[in-house]
Amino acid sequence: MSKTINKNIVCPRCFSNELYRFGKDKNGYQKYQCKICKRQFIPDAKPRKLKGYPRCPKCGKGTFIHHNYKYYVQFRCNDKKCNHSFYQVKPKFINSTSSKSILGKTDFSKIRFPVYLIILVLRLYYLDGSSTRKISKHLMDSWNIKISHVTIASWVKKFAPMFKFISNKLLKTISFKNSNKWHVDETVVFINGKKYYLWVVIDSDTRMIVAYHLSPYRNSSEAFKVLNEAKNLGNPKAIVTDRLPSYNIPVKVLFSSSEHIKVKSFKDDISNNLIESFFKTFKDWYKSKKGFNSFNSANNLIFMFIFHYNFVRIHSSLDNK
Ligand SMILES: [Zn+2]
Ligand SMILES: [Zn+2]
Repeated sequence: MSKTINKNIVCPRCFSNELYRFGKDKNGYQKYQCKICKRQFIPDAKPRKLKGYPRCPKCGKGTFIHHNYKYYVQFRCNDKKCNHSFYQVKPKFINSTSSKSILGKTDFSKIRFPVYLIILVLRLYYLDGSSTRKISKHLMDSWNIKISHVTIASWVKKFAPMFKFISNKLLKTISFKNSNKWHVDETVVFINGKKYYLWVVIDSDTRMIVAYHLSPYRNSSEAFKVLNEAKNLGNPKAIVTDRLPSYNIPVKVLFSSSEHIKVKSFKDDISNNLIESFFKTFKDWYKSKKGFNSFNSANNLIFMFIFHYNFVRIHSSLDNK
């Protein structure tokens, strides 16, 4: 019984063409419901009004769907003379970055130790690159506090959701609205011997990581995820990437008003060594950890490293030994 639904019929809210038939209205028009956002609509009844397509940004006339892609729609102007084409993102179709799957404790309750001690341990681990054994020994030698390296190994991971909550709040207090450049790049990390990519977006003005994503893939779906998350914080004048083709469409679709600067290498002048410098700090720390043993643990540890890089590092020089 299930006839396939015409692919050109799309949800007026999210442009999905994954639809259910939803009975008929009183005039006999077929009703549909969007599988993605649950919007109900009748495409034939009042097409002009119900379509909800954007107006042409060049001439203000109506538009039609030229291509409906997985993460975006390409619209084209109805006016043949204008013929302008532009993209509209389908945010509901872009999956979250790995930063949305941080697992662990959401408060400090049932912890026998004072919070300042946990903070100290985190700082030693993430900023000084100390091993869990070295930290355990240090606490014994200079504070006469006995905390096993196993406990320390669990502390450095399990509070990640709390710090994620704090990080979200802090990032919102910083204005990235008039940012100059965001640099995007990926580096390789190994989890249980398997290759993964750590994607990061760095703001050139504050030198903060505005988004990250850990994934086994290096394709444009993954670039969409990390750039879509960064987009929640602002709209820089330019996005700087290397020449990896995965960046082309996501930058065009998500940051249509930003210039896309493609550099041959991040050692070029324009990149200001921003990315290089982050990855160098990251790799020094990563080497001292001798790899990761699971995705969840890697994802938590990397987030915590980024938190310290963003919010703790700058001030730590005040009392550096
Ligand atoms: Zn929809
Ligand atoms: Zn037009």
